[in-house]
Amino acid sequence: MSSSDLADARDLCRFIDQSPSAAHAVAQVAAQLGTHGFTTLDLSAPAWGLAPGRYLVRRGGSVVAFVIRAAAFRRLHLVGAHTDSPHLRLKPQAAYACEGCLQLGVEVYGGALYNSWLDRDLGVAGTVHTADGVSHLVRIHRPLARVAQLAVHLDRTVNDNGLKLNPQTQLAPLWGLQPEGAGPGEASRRFAAELGLADSAIIAHELSLYDLTPATLAGADEELIFAGRLDNLASCHAGVTALLGSIDGESEVLPMLALFDHEEVGSRSDTGADGMLLWSILERIAGELGMGRSALHASLAGSLMISADMAHALHPNYPEKHEPRHRPLLGKGVVLKTNANVRYATSAASAARIRRLAAACAVPLQDFVARGDIGCGSTIGPSAAAHLGIAVCDLGTPMLSMHSARECAASADHAPYIRLLSAHLRGA
Ligand code: ZN
Repeated sequence: MSSSDLADARDLCRFIDQSPSAAHAVAQVAAQLGTHGFTTLDLSAPAWGLAPGRYLVRRGGSVVAFVIRAAAFRRLHLVGAHTDSPHLRLKPQAAYACEGCLQLGVEVYGGALYNSWLDRDLGVAGTVHTADGVSHLVRIHRPLARVAQLAVHLDRTVNDNGLKLNPQTQLAPLWGLQPEGAGPGEASRRFAAELGLADSAIIAHELSLYDLTPATLAGADEELIFAGRLDNLASCHAGVTALLGSIDGESEVLPMLALFDHEEVGSRSDTGADGMLLWSILERIAGELGMGRSALHASLAGSLMISADMAHALHPNYPEKHEPRHRPLLGKGVVLKTNANVRYATSAASAARIRRLAAACAVPLQDFVARGDIGCGSTIGPSAAAHLGIAVCDLGTPMLSMHSARECAASADHAPYIRLLSAHLRGA
């Protein structure tokens, strides 16, 4: 592994540490692109005055960035990924006291592995809206909370029977002890103070717990990455890095990076891939460039989207979980994901395009297809393919512990991932 490949993996760790929530990821992407000349467009502005240049649009936990290289485009080269990861989300009236302890009511967001949240030092991050109309990006970056596991002495059969956790009653974290003589409302007031705000001013929030352990290169020779939210911040980071490395490219191609929220809960929202956000942005770009509706639809015919999301690497302790002839390995390259029932949007034609592209930029590829007797996951690919009517290829780098609070990938896979996305965005 070259030192520049390792530098890409290190930069991914930095990106993850600065993105404890989808809102933080979007803020960070927007700030990074902003320093490279991207102008932020206001979705509510009736006209954007687009000309060749670099632009981004934000909405909630989603961000779409694109480069207009010429007066019109004939193809769209899109990279899509998602900013959200499974987590524990605070309920609206979150802070309460119970049995002398301060606790937080949480909902499970997405398909989290419950056990992975136990006995970790947890911070809080997200957005808070106050009565004065301001939205605050907040982060309590210190060990505030912990979902404490029951002692083995009080659960003697746990190692034989496995751990079952009730998401309503057994995932609420502790975040302190109730002071002597505290009245009702004290827990809520103290929690608001932790956020640096007055309890009476907070009118709505979207706050998640996150593991405080920093992302890190790991293993004998730093060949592994241990981090939370690799699914799918690794693809967001690869996409942003790739876009910045492909500003110049085929003039007839519109390169676009779309990072969506809500993938882990089905993508069906105003900011999700199964919504209108991307189509409405595309229509506006084409309209502002003076391209007719027909020209926009014609451009989609030759367009290609890479739906960038993480893939399941073969787990050495569970090799039987993989299809015997499709076993992607950590560190052995980007994984093309295929499913006959279109849980992944990869078609033979889109796979062929990506295989040619990967060969041209010396990126190793592996194939994934789920075992016939194990259900297949999905991602934003099929939604985007259906809404835009464009060819999509689902791919990503291999990882272990997907949807755990602490996941694992390989350092060597990240740089080739960036290279492949970059070649695609250049318009090859
Ligand atoms: Zn994912």
